[in-house]
Amino acid sequence: MKAALFFEPGGPAKIQIGEVPSPQIDHDQVLIQVKACSLNHFDLLVLRESDPDTFTFPFWGGADIAGVVAEVGESVSHIELGDRVVVNPGLYCGDCEHCLAGEESQCNNYGIIGDTVPGGFAEYIAVKPRNVLKLPEKITFEIAAAAPVVFQTAWRALKTQARVCPGDDVLILGASGGVGSASIQIAKFLGARVIAVTSTQDKMSNAKSMGADVVLDRTSGDYWEELRTLTNNRGVDVVIENIGAETWAQSLKSLVKGGRLVTYGRTTGHLAETDIKLIFWNQLHITGSTMANQKEFSEVMQMIFQGKLSPVIDSIFHLEQTQKAYQRLQDGDQFGKIIIKTTK
Ligand SMILES: [Zn+2]
Repeated sequence: MKAALFFEPGGPAKIQIGEVPSPQIDHDQVLIQVKACSLNHFDLLVLRESDPDTFTFPFWGGADIAGVVAEVGESVSHIELGDRVVVNPGLYCGDCEHCLAGEESQCNNYGIIGDTVPGGFAEYIAVKPRNVLKLPEKITFEIAAAAPVVFQTAWRALKTQARVCPGDDVLILGASGGVGSASIQIAKFLGARVIAVTSTQDKMSNAKSMGADVVLDRTSGDYWEELRTLTNNRGVDVVIENIGAETWAQSLKSLVKGGRLVTYGRTTGHLAETDIKLIFWNQLHITGSTMANQKEFSEVMQMIFQGKLSPVIDSIFHLEQTQKAYQRLQDGDQFGKIIIKTTK
């Protein structure tokens, strides 16, 4: 089968289209013919940081997969040949204490398709049936492939971890990223006032069109000061953090007493200073969040199937153009998801 391969770590230029053996399924797996697969920021990290000591090359990325069931293992019962499906990229053991508690993204052996194992920038992939969700007829492969990573991450971060309630002021940093734009929609759905931070006029108007009540420009003036004014010096109830080192100290300062900060990433670095006094005196809650459990994944996908949440597509490339698609993501010009169509 064709796949968008790389043989060593580096930038988008390392990607080339090549032939690899098609996956052979086990009795408890299904084979998916990939129709669409979207890029996530971590695809760039996997490409750049893949360690030759732990990776088997060639490797190919792609976590967010939608396609058609092309083969069904003999012990699989509820999935049929030809089913249109979306894949939950979370890989978990199913029998550690966290999995048994229904917290699959806390699994002791948690991994993600496209990182732990080769992904969907290829014509086929073999997965376990528990990773597969059937698609309603009206949901296109492109829309389905735009959803899994960013919507499950945002759903768990905002609903479960930050416990966003009606009337909360929610600050969303990195609002033009995939999780950021999903977070705007989810925070609005949960009844919050959304203050989004991004840059450039285009991204700001996109954040607005996603439902943000206020959009701050991180490149002009002191947006933390604007935030204080906006909340009458009260501070926000919730901060959704993925910027890391650059914003961490200010994010903590911007919270109301008893406020909640949820971090799901660190695009500017993972080491930052924390004022401990701020945490105990203001009684802050700091929580980390990664992907989601099975229940949250199903919940948020149902919301998408019902049209209550809408993945945003930036652009669509063909598998042959995967290098260009990676480059677009690296350049940071996109708003919404970049999709690779794998089969014509
Ligand atoms: Zn487990």
